[in-house]
Amino acid sequence: SVDVEFTGRTRILTISNQKGGVGKTTTTVNIAAALAALGARVLVIDLDPQGNASTALGVPHSADTASIYDVLIDGMPISEIIQTSPESENLLCAPSTIHLAGAEIELVSQVAREHRLRTALENYLQGLDERLDFILIDCPPSLGLLTINAFTAANELLIPIQCEYYALEGLSQLLGTVTMIQQHLNHGLELSTIMLTMYDGRTRLAQQVADEVREHFPSQVLETIIPRSVRVSEAPSFGQTVISYDGHSAGAIAYKEAAVEMVRRSHENTSEEES
Ligand code: ADP
Ligand code: MG
Repeated sequence: SVDVEFTGRTRILTISNQKGGVGKTTTTVNIAAALAALGARVLVIDLDPQGNASTALGVPHSADTASIYDVLIDGMPISEIIQTSPESENLLCAPSTIHLAGAEIELVSQVAREHRLRTALENYLQGLDERLDFILIDCPPSLGLLTINAFTAANELLIPIQCEYYALEGLSQLLGTVTMIQQHLNHGLELSTIMLTMYDGRTRLAQQVADEVREHFPSQVLETIIPRSVRVSEAPSFGQTVISYDGHSAGAIAYKEAAVEMVRRSHENTSEEES
């Protein structure tokens, strides 16, 4: 059993990698569900117009649903768009709709265009009565204004890396953007976590990629590796995370272990700061 306690500040993580199909959404929803199962209160913000995170969390997100688009473009309070996932009362979702596809361009002419999500979250957290332990932001596959809003609002960056060819390709561009954000928009953003995903232990290549990433980022890479697993890829078509779809599958177990690791690491950091 796992002994974890949630009492502290709200950790805001953005799950980013400008490559598509690397496991951002899968990681966001399954880590969120695993954290909620540990007793954390978690809010997922779906910042991808495709709305895959909303789908996987079983949250309606048709075109007429109030969504993160209304928050970013019209200043609607986040509290008015939040829905609770049927999986857990601890698991909340700010859904995306197809309207968000236009936001990338609409944001260009907005006041404080890089800070709109940050301001919305600050207002939301100020007015909140209950505890909220984690906010996880699922980013679209680009380094446009939506992703920049996520980087500006977050205090941690989680990068999922697929254990395949070209895994590190594009990473220097991502890290360059992060440095720019740290200098100009958000001094507090920290690359805290790298998660190796879609690992196929039968191939030498996957092992080599994992070793190489660990060599580059020894303190950020989680020990837990997420295996490639059919159950993980099936779950969203049932509007579920793998945690509820098949909690005993290898993928679910790995995501639960990764969630525990993320919580433990934060406690280690806190005690370092305190000592
Ligand atoms: P992104 O959000 O980065 O575009 P997704 O999370 O949507 O990536 O994942 C891309 C595809 O890979 C999806 O079809 C997803 O179901 C599948 N996938 C992700 N992680 C795994 C895994 N561990 N095992 C098997 N399939 C996976
Ligand atoms: Mg995605």
